[in-house]
Amino acid sequence: MTTKKFYITTPLYYLNSEPHIGHAYTTLAADVLARYKKTKNEPVYFLTGTDEHGANIEKAALNHNVTPQQWTDDMAAKFKALWQVLGIEYDDFIRTTEPRHERVVQAIFEKLLAKGDIYKGSYSGKYCLSCESYLDESELVDGKCPIHKKEPQIIEEETYFFKLSAYQDKLLKYYEENPTFISPKHRAQEIINFVKGGLKDLSVSRTKVKWGISVPSDPNHTIYVWFDALINYISAAGYLADENKFKELWPADIHFLGKEILRFHAVIWPAVLMALDLPLPKQDFAHGWWTIEGEKMSKSLGNFIDPRDITAKYGVDAFRYFIFREVPFGQDGDFSMEAFKKRFNADLANDLGNLLSRTLNMAAKNVGEIPQTYTNANSALLKKAEETDKLYDQNMNALAFDKALDAIWALAGYMNKYIDETKPWMLAKTDPEKTKEILLELVFALRYFASWLAPFMPTSAAEISRRLQSGKIEKYGPLFPRID
Ligand SMILES: [Zn+2]
Repeated sequence: MTTKKFYITTPLYYLNSEPHIGHAYTTLAADVLARYKKTKNEPVYFLTGTDEHGANIEKAALNHNVTPQQWTDDMAAKFKALWQVLGIEYDDFIRTTEPRHERVVQAIFEKLLAKGDIYKGSYSGKYCLSCESYLDESELVDGKCPIHKKEPQIIEEETYFFKLSAYQDKLLKYYEENPTFISPKHRAQEIINFVKGGLKDLSVSRTKVKWGISVPSDPNHTIYVWFDALINYISAAGYLADENKFKELWPADIHFLGKEILRFHAVIWPAVLMALDLPLPKQDFAHGWWTIEGEKMSKSLGNFIDPRDITAKYGVDAFRYFIFREVPFGQDGDFSMEAFKKRFNADLANDLGNLLSRTLNMAAKNVGEIPQTYTNANSALLKKAEETDKLYDQNMNALAFDKALDAIWALAGYMNKYIDETKPWMLAKTDPEKTKEILLELVFALRYFASWLAPFMPTSAAEISRRLQSGKIEKYGPLFPRID
């Protein structure tokens, strides 16, 4: 018996640039969901990794005077180091230069070649070197790649094609029968229109690119980097290598990705899986882009946000909190230091931090021992906490992370108001029993916060939980000292 695990992936990050907030965002979203599933005792498997082949890697390595292998070793290590800093708990990190991946890519290529889903031809077209992709005339904006704002090069080469055109109707049928496959919903129509517009066969090999996985039966060709990279989702899951593992993981429950690579994941990838007679992933979730202080993040503007700078200064949890509270997951958002500091002071230092320290300090004085459990059927606060718990679960399952956090902070606001209105520090002089009751309500409502915040702010959540343990309550310093 194998139990299916909830299988979560990030895209494999392309190693032509240092990790930035965009990479961190996708990976943190996957981490938040994985940690949430763990709080519910659901078996979960979280895969991330790096995409390491292709002309852009060759070029980057050459520019830095190192071999592509050295370049990718160094860059992959940088990604791993950042994930460690950000508290990412992945189960596997796959690099596309690993033999366990390359073997599977080669086997799949030969399998589809034998089946007729891959065939040899020649191709001439406009190719964006940065996308590593041919672009249709209809996709160009002022003759340029809409993402990279560069003119594509005209390339002619002998190439193998994947018969993408054969899967047009099947794809449309799949989108119709699985309306949440392309998420969020507002991104689906563009993909559907693109497929309805007619799919052309996809060039999946290169003769000019040396840094790639070679076609076993025709070693002059290397396999197109996108075709190679997408396969990681099954090569890491044990496809053609470990049958039990594959049963445990595949199909993926969710592929997290940025909106710029949705077409690869929602069109090419499912078509390849159909050609392999494999079940399709349940969901592609494409999030939006970050601008920095109102500007598009770009190398030339030099406004790349390095998450290491922010987390070194303000803590990892504050960063993790901010990016999911500030912007609805799935939409575009703006990262500004002013907004970050504002949220830190208002939400973390004031609303949550004060609530925790006020409650604990008054409890230390007036309650003494905190019991293991506490029930109070008349408590409006504890009823509200239960309702918040339901709302939180609903929103977490819908990946509406901002709404889940909103619900938590609405309760924090309610609790602060409850303290202001009941004034336990005054009440203690006249009615110690009632004071104790109010403080126990507050302590037990706060225990929910520890579990709710665990996916987003694991270190702070553990600390909150520690401070609220049963037994003797102590006085503590602020959890989030204000930023000035
Ligand atoms: Zn491009």
